[in-house]
Amino acid sequence: TELNVWHNVDNYFTDKLLPDNSCLTAALLANKAAGIPEIDVSPTQGRFLYLLTKLKGAVNVLEIGTLGGYSSICLAQALSKEGKVVTLEINEDYASVARKNIRHAGLEEKIEIIVGPALDTLPDLKKRGHFFDVIFIDADKPNNPEYLKWAVKLANSGAVIIADNVVRNGAITDINSMDERVSGVQQFIDLLKEEPRIEATAIQTVGVKGYDGFVLAIVN
Ligand code: SAM
Repeated sequence: TELNVWHNVDNYFTDKLLPDNSCLTAALLANKAAGIPEIDVSPTQGRFLYLLTKLKGAVNVLEIGTLGGYSSICLAQALSKEGKVVTLEINEDYASVARKNIRHAGLEEKIEIIVGPALDTLPDLKKRGHFFDVIFIDADKPNNPEYLKWAVKLANSGAVIIADNVVRNGAITDINSMDERVSGVQQFIDLLKEEPRIEATAIQTVGVKGYDGFVLAIVN
């Protein structure tokens, strides 16, 4: 029943507050048709990413974990004319669906998808001299600690880092967890505390994607 309430309230805010966004609706349909797992951010979370990116006045955004491009589109829609999203995806099939969704949204000039394991492609971004204002970490959770180290290296001063799925239905507090996604997030949280340039918090969320949460951090 709790789940029902969360769903209903999330849908209520989606209906009331979010504008019709045909590109996002089309992306979800295309993802479903392609058999892509429905693990994209929810509409209200996507809107949160959009607002945060706008609030920050971000020009360069990095996303780790593209899936079908739902959140990439949310991030790109928040950018000014010269803004760009670089998004990293390991799965070529997902990337090709994302490419279509992004083209359909008219955002192909704003979003660059780089296919490959992110730990292999992140060093290239550094070599290319890329720095980012917003970094959204949303890929394989066991690698979250490594992604955080890269995020710090690739961050402009004052950059915002957001990392999704840090609560995992409460599993985050289980220090004996055998789930390497949980231990990945736990190590990530410990690293946030140790990294002198970072100030962070975590916010629990409920809604259509269940009970979870995200980390919000800035890199000084
Ligand atoms: N950000 C997406 C959204 O909200 O629309 C959802 C991303 S989904 C939760 C995680 C994605 O990370 C999957 O598409 C998966 O294929 C990708 N992924 C997993 N391991 C990866 C790796 N080592 N490098 C890059 N991407 C990876």
